[in-house]
Amino acid sequence: MSTKPPAVATDAQASAAIHRPATGAGNWLGVEALHYKQEGSAPFRDVSRRVLFGDAQFSSQLRYFEVQAGGYTTLERHRHAHAVLILRGGGKALVGDAILTLAEHDLVSVPPLTWHQFRAPHDGPLGFLCMVNVKRDRPQLPTAAELETLRSNPRLAAFLRD
Ligand code: MN
Repeated sequence: MSTKPPAVATDAQASAAIHRPATGAGNWLGVEALHYKQEGSAPFRDVSRRVLFGDAQFSSQLRYFEVQAGGYTTLERHRHAHAVLILRGGGKALVGDAILTLAEHDLVSVPPLTWHQFRAPHDGPLGFLCMVNVKRDRPQLPTAAELETLRSNPRLAAFLRD
């Protein structure tokens, strides 16, 4: 008796699962641009999010965030850490009490429970890869008192005002 051969994925199907060609800066075939966060849940401006690698086999995720000119991510902190690689453009970041000037291919570590925010310049985007644990706590936003403490540092005040 003959048995049916096992179902095999076509080359195109197999290839789509392992190769998503770039279709432009910050865009990949089959990778959807998502909302950064739910609108109104936290302050931010002009940020999109893409999950590049989020398979259940990994305990981490690699996401791509793009901040449009003049935009910024939420000022937040949390117990989980971020590993960031600047992929497109430049900008600035607040990490703890440091203001960083970012260039393409720079690496940024955001330690646990450290206030952080990424800002694009006014004339171009800031795109970055960000690796996080799949299991992670929710971001905390600064209270009015914590924001006042941050702003008591003139350098941080200038960054947050830009
Ligand atoms: Mn964060």
